Amino acid sequence: MAKIAINIATGSLQQNEMIVGIDLGTTNSLIAIIHPENKKPVALKEHDSSSLVPSVIHFEKNGLITVGAEAKKYLVTDPANTIFSAKRLIGKTYNDVKNNTSSLAYTIINDDDKLAKVQVGTQFYTAVDLSALILKELKKTAEHILKTPVNKAVITVPAYFNDAQRQATRDAGKLAGLDVLRIINEPTAASLAYGFGLNKTEQKTIAVYDLGGGTFDISILTIANGIFEVLSTNGDTFLGGDDLDNAIVEHWINRYDYKDRADEKMHRQLLRLKAEEAKKHLSQNETFETPYEKDDLAISKEKFEEIIKPIIDKTIVCCTNALKDAGLAKNDIDEIIMVGGTTRIPFVKKAVSDFFGKAVNDTVDPDEVVALGAAIQADVLAGNTKDILLLDITPLSLGLETMGGLMDVLLPRNSKIPAKASRQYTTYKDGQRGMKIAVYQGERDMVKDNRRLAEFNLTGIPGMPAGLPKVEVSFLINADGILVVNAKELRSGIEQSIEVKPQYGLTDEDVEKMLMDSIHHAGEDIHARALIEAKTEAEQLLQTTEKFIQKNFEQLTQQEITATSGAMQALQLSLDMNDKDLIQAKTEELNAISRPYAERVMDDAIQKTLRGNKIGLQG
Ligand code: AMP
Repeated sequence: MAKIAINIATGSLQQNEMIVGIDLGTTNSLIAIIHPENKKPVALKEHDSSSLVPSVIHFEKNGLITVGAEAKKYLVTDPANTIFSAKRLIGKTYNDVKNNTSSLAYTIINDDDKLAKVQVGTQFYTAVDLSALILKELKKTAEHILKTPVNKAVITVPAYFNDAQRQATRDAGKLAGLDVLRIINEPTAASLAYGFGLNKTEQKTIAVYDLGGGTFDISILTIANGIFEVLSTNGDTFLGGDDLDNAIVEHWINRYDYKDRADEKMHRQLLRLKAEEAKKHLSQNETFETPYEKDDLAISKEKFEEIIKPIIDKTIVCCTNALKDAGLAKNDIDEIIMVGGTTRIPFVKKAVSDFFGKAVNDTVDPDEVVALGAAIQADVLAGNTKDILLLDITPLSLGLETMGGLMDVLLPRNSKIPAKASRQYTTYKDGQRGMKIAVYQGERDMVKDNRRLAEFNLTGIPGMPAGLPKVEVSFLINADGILVVNAKELRSGIEQSIEVKPQYGLTDEDVEKMLMDSIHHAGEDIHARALIEAKTEAEQLLQTTEKFIQKNFEQLTQQEITATSGAMQALQLSLDMNDKDLIQAKTEELNAISRPYAERVMDDAIQKTLRGNKIGLQG
């Protein structure tokens, strides 16, 4: 991929910069490039070693940090200072992850809504710091193998990563000294690695089933005219090979009665490594047995499949949902691509092919396929491959908070990206100088049930009566899936271009749960939205009526004023009772009383204006 070019101005030879593809995985990470000679993607490795760099970091007391296979050895001997699965913490708070830390031997500090931090000795590390250490190691290895500086990269992330998680991955790259040119979804990269779409006349619908160490994604893609389009994505950010290992560990702990041991942490780590060994062995054999203390830990393939079935069944439910979101039936799928080490398990392949009613596609190494695709994307960015265009979609809806805490969606879920949407808003108070722009992600009607991404104030709006300023808010998702929010007041022309930093530190439930919640709560959400809309309308009517009476007091009869004041009180009372039907009825009553005199006063005003004009003309 490194090309030689001549700088015309200086006549000197210069080497085009190397752009690498990186799969930053939960369990393993790897780096790939396009081979300079055969032009095929290839994963980088040192001599006989594996291309997979375990995503494990060990911190020694003397400050020495090791990453990868060396660090993995310390999982048993020094578990408290050996960090694995750090990707699960990316963009998450302590509250987000606290229920999923039971299998971790290291300490995540209890810091509520702040970004989750791992404590090692007296030091604290965020998932960004930890990911940067892994990326630094990958960069160093690549530079050693290629004997050239590596400063630019394409990094892949699970399709379900939200903006904060994508931004955090980008930040980690920066910390590691890498210019991250593009963040792409892992399933999109995998389909590139299979070479689908390279032939321009080919039209296909593909399901990418990605079961790795810590996450599960299913994506439905179509390819036509060399264009990739992701129709839908689904998955679970807490489901993967680690869960299978833990299920085996639990099975052994119960069966061999290892509960309540003093050395529990180290014991668990040891069993975890044995469980992973068992899992891999059972991909090709009928039984597994290994000596452990006084016992022989054993597990049959049949038992193993029984243990993992409920976990694999969950992935099949996600497949059903992804098909539904894409508006497709099983037999619309032409190809099924298997990605992630866990898809080596025959039981997994069978479950997936039984579901789709078709043999799965598993010819490319499932551990390398994503990095290989990232290398192809890197080659596209380097200008070497011109025929591919990638279209991705937003996994969750993006919108703003409006009156009463309602979610106003600007970019619906599954919008194609890059994407742009804008909408106009106005003020609700006279002379209002600022407007809060709060950005949320999720499917629920109330913002409190969604995920807050960012918030800022558009300030400096010139004082105007309520409803006059026009604030246009635009959302732009660039090709990385990163969101930029812009707000502009159109009447005065003031524009504040504000870069929104996705806010970490906030409730960040996993995406699948959010989608399920939106389905479960659809009924009550509709009810809540209707109540808030009725309340907002009632409050606005109360405000305008009060203003109207103050201004036009002289032109109203005593009877009109008394009736209005009674209706206003009744409406205020209904607001306190939170009863939508009552609020609507009382709003209508107030309207019925005020409409006749409001029209009369308006008519008088028009008449006066007309008379004024006549005098003017005669004069
Ligand atoms: P990934 O996140 O794609 O690197 O996937 C790593 C996961 O795949 C880990 O949980 C591994 O234990 C698992 N894995 C790797 N090889 C095999 C195999 N032959 N059988 C079962 N699981 C495997």
